[in-house]
Amino acid sequence: MTLEKKKLDIVWFKRDLRTLDNKSIEFASNSGNLTLFIYIFEPSVLNSFDTDLRHVRFIYESLTDINKRLKKYSLELKYINSEALYFFEEISRKYKINNVLSYQEIGNNLTYSRDKKLAKFFQINDIKWLQSKTNGIIRGLKSRKNWKKEWINEMKSKIVSIDFQSINKQKVRIPKTIKLYTSKHLLDKNFQPGGETYAWMYLRSFFKSRHNGYTKNISKPSQSRISCSRLSPYLTYGNLSSRQVYQLFSESSKNRDIRNFLSRLQWRCHFMQKFDDEPDMEFNNINRAYDSIREKYDENFMLQWKEGLTGIPLIDACMRCLDQTGYLNFRMRAMIVSFAAFNLWQNWKNFSHHLAKKFLDYEPGIHYSQIQMQSAVTGINTVRIYNPVKNSIDLDPNGEFIKKWLPELNNIPSENVHQPWKMTIIEQEMYNFKIGVDYPRPIVDIDHSRKEAMNKIWKIKKTSKSKTLARKILKKHVNS
Ligand SMILES: Cc1cc2nc3c(=O)[nH]c(=O)nc-3n(C[C@H](O)[C@H](O)[C@H](O)COP(=O)(O)OP(=O)(O)OC[C@H]3O[C@@H](n4cnc5c(N)ncnc54)[C@H](O)[C@@H]3O)c2cc1C
Repeated sequence: MTLEKKKLDIVWFKRDLRTLDNKSIEFASNSGNLTLFIYIFEPSVLNSFDTDLRHVRFIYESLTDINKRLKKYSLELKYINSEALYFFEEISRKYKINNVLSYQEIGNNLTYSRDKKLAKFFQINDIKWLQSKTNGIIRGLKSRKNWKKEWINEMKSKIVSIDFQSINKQKVRIPKTIKLYTSKHLLDKNFQPGGETYAWMYLRSFFKSRHNGYTKNISKPSQSRISCSRLSPYLTYGNLSSRQVYQLFSESSKNRDIRNFLSRLQWRCHFMQKFDDEPDMEFNNINRAYDSIREKYDENFMLQWKEGLTGIPLIDACMRCLDQTGYLNFRMRAMIVSFAAFNLWQNWKNFSHHLAKKFLDYEPGIHYSQIQMQSAVTGINTVRIYNPVKNSIDLDPNGEFIKKWLPELNNIPSENVHQPWKMTIIEQEMYNFKIGVDYPRPIVDIDHSRKEAMNKIWKIKKTSKSKTLARKILKKHVNS
């Protein structure tokens, strides 16, 4: 006689690493069913080209925070170390899985393909996969016409309230064939720490006072680190839902800084929606008329750019700061991409994975859209080539940011910090600094490379192929 398997629901945390406003947990609290809470550390994802230790640490910190909160109710989230399909195959040998609860993942091709395989497995095994909508993004959207209206409705909708006491506390035995994730990750103080607790600290301090100066400082590399919200990693990993953030601020939308902030919260979802509709942008130019440009890969250029050794101080300071903290404000991100794509004339495919690893808030939907926009291969956006010297003088006039990240320029006066290659021999001697020895000469002529790049881009932009494709792209992606 075969024993009937126990029924089980599984709450699968993905990019919704929070206990509040979480529909999957709400389901468990309403059903009272035997429920297992899991996060799956998948080797394929951990080793993929766009994952870095900084991301894994942030996830680990977020999970530790969730467990602290669950412990109060004698509940626990398990850290699984396996491919997702293997985990579900193994656990379903022991239990009859009824429901899997998760949020739709607006991930990359790797996670999307995994989800397709799982959907098949769940279907064959009569398992219901209840996936909640992520931040108002609509899967399989046919037209963008009413998208904004629907997004606002979603943001205004009621925040989920959960009765943790009524969640079934019975223990679930994980089969021995499934390995648990046991690596420990120590806090690195240079990076924003993960988890709901920190997310709310950042949210509240931005709400209370930090938003003053948001608009004024948004492009400045130093000041923006305080007066921007810094919520991006918390939104990426779902420590906060967009709805929670929206509802806290929407009452104050008469304030200009808050209005500007809220419109970015919407852009975020707009880009994610665009990516969900057109995932091919992870691999190909949004406008294929640009496929023939930037074919030559220059390894030295890329290496100097990655290491912050281009000889252009603001670019180098940004690259080193990003490496060590995982964060740059929008303008500096756009500028480092513009420098690689225009001045160094490199294809975005050669550097997008590097940046994905470095941005703590890496969100594929925003990442690929922005990288393509800043490389001017969409054919629908204004071509912007940022001049790093002008940006340096305008946005970091005293060289505060540059000197912080390029200690080799510490002894030279602030007025020389933007273009140290222009210092005379006497000036160099006065400040005990030698260009080409203490700090590299520029690896490209900014003005010349800018003009060349502009000509090449416009040559394509003017073609009928580029224009026809641009019209199609606009028709598909512009929302009303
Ligand atoms: C090349 C490039 C790559 C980028 N990659 C990412 C990424 O992977 N993840 C990411 O969250 N943002 C990305 N951005 C957008 C933007 O730079 C960051 O969202 C912002 O700097 C995060 O800081 P903050 O949270 O203090 O932003 P705030 O200015 O406080 O904005 C609030 C929130 O709005 C969203 N947001 C802000 N600006 C934008 C924007 N331009 N487009 C879409 N959403 C926006 C973010 O979620 C942000 O947390 C990228 C920009 C560029 C140019």
